[in-house]
Amino acid sequence: MNLILLFQDDFVKDRQRVCLRGRRHEHVLDVHRASVGDRLFVGLLNDKMGTGMVTRIDKDAVEMDIVLDRDPPPPLDATLILALPRPIVLKRILLSASSMGAKQIFLIHSRRVEKSYWNSPILDEERIREQLILGLEQARDTIMPEVWFRQKFKPFVEDELPGIIKGTLPLVAHPETSEPCPRQINRPVTLAIGPEGGFIPYEIELLEDTGFISVNIGERILRVETAVPVLLSKLF
Ligand code: SAH
Repeated sequence: MNLILLFQDDFVKDRQRVCLRGRRHEHVLDVHRASVGDRLFVGLLNDKMGTGMVTRIDKDAVEMDIVLDRDPPPPLDATLILALPRPIVLKRILLSASSMGAKQIFLIHSRRVEKSYWNSPILDEERIREQLILGLEQARDTIMPEVWFRQKFKPFVEDELPGIIKGTLPLVAHPETSEPCPRQINRPVTLAIGPEGGFIPYEIELLEDTGFISVNIGERILRVETAVPVLLSKLF
């Protein structure tokens, strides 16, 4: 936890003092091993970042006086469209996408996504939020990403994607194309990544008809959780 993410209801005095219990308190106690007078990196959800000076710490809680004087880092200019991965992989991807600064993530169905994945408890709002928060705390950011679910591929691509890709470069990562992924594009991008079994040809066609360009990131076929950071580091 490189930043302690704060929420409005942590404040015990107007925007000045917070009292934390539970996971964050334990972390400050056991990992930071903080004592009174120490300053820790903090940030308020969807707001500024700054420092918290420990004013009290014991086995029940930690209290800090907060100064919020810095903006969070600029968001990544990328909308991610991910075919819903296996629950365990989804957890990791949400955390890492959040830490890389992605703020818009669509999780979509596609032919090679197992239907049962849609019933996983990891898709509960609270569980998703947990991973996104871990990513923000990891990266020192405060702006919560938004995650949407779309369980019907064709209506999503035909009706919604044209609006989403407006003003962006729409790319679909596809190992079978010879077009290499562009580098350092310096413009907003919409990036579609397939499921473990890949998009089927019909889905690639539909995406291409909507304006997407298929790109590859080399001969090696990577796991989705590896492909995402590789793609983003080429593009930005
Ligand atoms: N057997 C599948 C592999 C899917 S890998 C196939 O041949 O399509 C899962 C997803 O990661 C892919 O759908 C793609 O979006 C992305 N990916 C992995 N390796 C890639 C590569 N070398 N080039 C482009 N995309 C890749």
